[in-house]
Amino acid sequence: MIIAVDGPAASGKGTIAKALARHYNLPHLDTGLLYRAVAATVQRLELDPAIEADAVAACDFDELTLADPHLRDDEIGKLASVVSAHPLVRSALLHRQKRFAHQPGGAVLDGRDIGTVIAPDADAKLFIRATPSIRAKRRHAELSAHGSFVSLDKVLADIRARDLRDSSRSTAPLVPAPDAALLDTSFLSIEASVQKAITLVETRLGTKRAAVG
Ligand code: C5P
Repeated sequence: MIIAVDGPAASGKGTIAKALARHYNLPHLDTGLLYRAVAATVQRLELDPAIEADAVAACDFDELTLADPHLRDDEIGKLASVVSAHPLVRSALLHRQKRFAHQPGGAVLDGRDIGTVIAPDADAKLFIRATPSIRAKRRHAELSAHGSFVSLDKVLADIRARDLRDSSRSTAPLVPAPDAALLDTSFLSIEASVQKAITLVETRLGTKRAAVG
């Protein structure tokens, strides 16, 4: 069984995807980490993220990079959204993600294009959203908890800029798959969001089973 969880930054998709993976006992891949690893490698090698060939050279990153806690930094998130707009970067990371999705037994993947590009055949697709100001508040609280003091306005501006870049790129833009179930977490607790996500997945699986049977 493949579950695709897409959505913008700080929508709650990562938390929901991890909870679904636990619930269904499936392996989970946070695909944003792959783009973040490319971004961190571009930075380390002092390459230019805006130049496609530079970003492609960083796709061959060291696997240990994926465990680097700095990948979660906002700065790397921003760079990741620049490198991820290059079609050749996306194709360099495509097979690894498709392989993970289609492993025996299935998987849960979260990202921006799981339901549209990586696993259009997923058994259940969720598109998670929340208003930009609520996502900014969540990200701001997270940053403050880690001792990084950035103003809420700056976090909101960054979120809007990243949304725009991710949704307006020509290759694999951030858009819900036509058959994705939409889940708005703006006014839901983590527990309520997870519960709702499980219900949506169950509904999808039930519909599929009914269609097959
Ligand atoms: O999800 P996360 O914030 O870690 O993703 C970082 C960036 O990587 C996103 O802003 C997006 O530009 C890119 N990304 C993507 N496709 C994915 C996952 C992430 O383009 N499947």
